[in-house]
Amino acid sequence: MSMNRRDFLKIAGISTAAGIGGTALASGLKKGVLEAAQTAPNTEALAGKRWGIAIDMSKLKSDESIKRITEACHRIHNVPDFSNTKDEVKWIWTETFEHSFPGQEHKFMPEDMKHKPFLLLCNHCDKPACVRVCPTKATFKRSDGIVMQDMHRCIGCRFCMAACPFGARSFNYKDPRLAKNLQEYMNPEFPTRTIGVVEKCTFCYERLSKGLKPACVDESNGALVFGDLDDPASEIRKILASKHTIRRKPELGTEPNIFYIIGGNDYAVVPEIK
Ligand code: SF4
Ligand code: SF4
Repeated sequence: MSMNRRDFLKIAGISTAAGIGGTALASGLKKGVLEAAQTAPNTEALAGKRWGIAIDMSKLKSDESIKRITEACHRIHNVPDFSNTKDEVKWIWTETFEHSFPGQEHKFMPEDMKHKPFLLLCNHCDKPACVRVCPTKATFKRSDGIVMQDMHRCIGCRFCMAACPFGARSFNYKDPRLAKNLQEYMNPEFPTRTIGVVEKCTFCYERLSKGLKPACVDESNGALVFGDLDDPASEIRKILASKHTIRRKPELGTEPNIFYIIGGNDYAVVPEIK
């Protein structure tokens, strides 16, 4: 279904309110607008200094629950689906333990763990390799830790894709607006991208600015916990202090902010020795 006049006017209204032009609307929000979400006073917005997510794999029990999460993200962000690997664009996806955490697997680990799909997304790293290599500053880190992608400044060189060791970035080989799923439904409140730019998860900055948590977190029935890692009183910090968690490829030094609880392994309370 192509966009009708009502949808168009709705988008035009949003773009005017946000102060962005037609080109920026088609190709993504301008850096100034993206940064405004963190600089303009906004009492509704969730405030944090270093956002992160803890994913409790024991609570993601079925393929359906994972599908619900990935579909929620891709639907609200107008992520195109061309149904082939070469043109795949993904913001949140799954891989096996071995591919998610290479070097951390061993032959004695539980069989179900080996084959379980692990939910992956951009790690919004403390030291993001993607940001260091971008020649136009199209990818940059906000003061709340979100690694943002400005589609308007992206020149499609794909240096960031080569630098990211987590496969978190996708290139638009085709015009995303031609994808069948976007022809059928397009969220008028989120900008579509153009052919030739790189995109990825943005930690739902547009939802945070309205006081909402990321869509994947809301869809997870408590399996994903989002919070400020710099706040010792936050739920995520309490989880990290009480459960054993692992991160993807920690040896590379990018300091990922997505943590995985891979078993029901509360730290035992060690009895005091008298
Ligand atoms: S996961 Fe990749 S794309 Fe995301 S911040 Fe880290 S290096 Fe950049
Ligand atoms: S934080 Fe938002 S953009 Fe990122 S994977 Fe979750 S739903 Fe998608």
